Amino acid sequence: MDRIYFDNNATTPLRSEVLEAMLPYLRDHYGNASSIHATGRQARQAVEAARAKVAQALNCDPSEVVFTGSGTEADNQAIKGAYFALGRQRPHLVTSRIEHHAVLHTVEYLEKHHGAQATYLEVDGQGLVNLEQLRSCLSDKTALVSVMHANNEVGTVQPISEMVALCRERGALFHTDAVQTFGKLDCDVRALGVDLLSLSAHKIYGPKGVGALYIRKGTRLHSLIHGGGHERGRRAGTENVAGIVGLGAAAELAMREREEECRRLSQLRDRLWQGIQSAIADVRRNGHPERSLPGTLSVCFRYIEGESVLLMLDLKGIACSSGSACTSGSLEPSHVLAAMGVPTEEAQGSVRFSLGRYNTEEEVDQVVEVLKESVAKLRAMSPLAPSAGCSGGTAS
Ligand code: PLP
Repeated sequence: MDRIYFDNNATTPLRSEVLEAMLPYLRDHYGNASSIHATGRQARQAVEAARAKVAQALNCDPSEVVFTGSGTEADNQAIKGAYFALGRQRPHLVTSRIEHHAVLHTVEYLEKHHGAQATYLEVDGQGLVNLEQLRSCLSDKTALVSVMHANNEVGTVQPISEMVALCRERGALFHTDAVQTFGKLDCDVRALGVDLLSLSAHKIYGPKGVGALYIRKGTRLHSLIHGGGHERGRRAGTENVAGIVGLGAAAELAMREREEECRRLSQLRDRLWQGIQSAIADVRRNGHPERSLPGTLSVCFRYIEGESVLLMLDLKGIACSSGSACTSGSLEPSHVLAAMGVPTEEAQGSVRFSLGRYNTEEEVDQVVEVLKESVAKLRAMSPLAPSAGCSGGTAS
């Protein structure tokens, strides 16, 4: 059997069109984009063309896009940059309990080492943040609110514009981590109203190690990396020209295909969930049934461990993840599911399937078959499982 890759929220394969766009900048056009001779100018043109493509996808001015070395760096730049610029007058930061660690650990670092006071917004059972808590915790001491556009593990999409409106009343900045939504959902920064937005190339069939931060014109932000005047003084360091070209190409392709691909992935995800529900008893879907990333399905298989399911599927040539890739391998239940109130024993049985542009209906059906077998085997060995626990039945 060919390998089946259902882990597209962790990373995606590089598209051949993207590779083709990048190759000349790895092989021939080696100029430094800051050099003023022709070789340098060629690299500069490529960087600026990519910036224009990303800006078009975000509906912003190219001067509002800063290239970074990853989505993680963009998150760090947004949060630390805002806090270092404003924290003296406004030491309060707000985020949610279900953020990626690129956000959570950054806020925790600022609390521990730089005197920040942080509020962590609770989420409901479907992963939606508590808007009332946001309204009541905001004050004229709040520098920044950072809430992700959609969650990488369960796919829940947050009501960003509503949160932005609350922040405006208090003069707080709003940042969203759109690493999982850029190129998949509408990320029009004017419509969303955000001041800062992070994105990453490798989630949309672009190269690893390149991302970008949208910074609304006029936003006060300290830089994290000092040196030359690259990226209008926002981020020093000779540009990763080929990577940036790859991000631009991936963004352009994603925007062109976004709506149709979104529909296709939603159908595939629904097929997967229907298949799982009819083949396996005692399963539960995590996340919001409607406000969700099109290709993301998080499922708890009761009485067994998600890690064991993952390993069994891997032996059969299927890649998926338990919790998020960054934390798999640790026995801690996912912080996202814990915040959503999923009991620990169930959270430990969670598996995330994330579909992408190369997945097909046939693959979905094969995965359901393999899952049925694997879950039955694992439950047969599990002291927690009621006997004969795995042949069709109810799901919650
Ligand atoms: N934010 C979210 C929601 C993510 O899913 C990820 C990657 O998994 C990141 C940030 C980090 O992005 P990068 O891998 O580009 O550092």
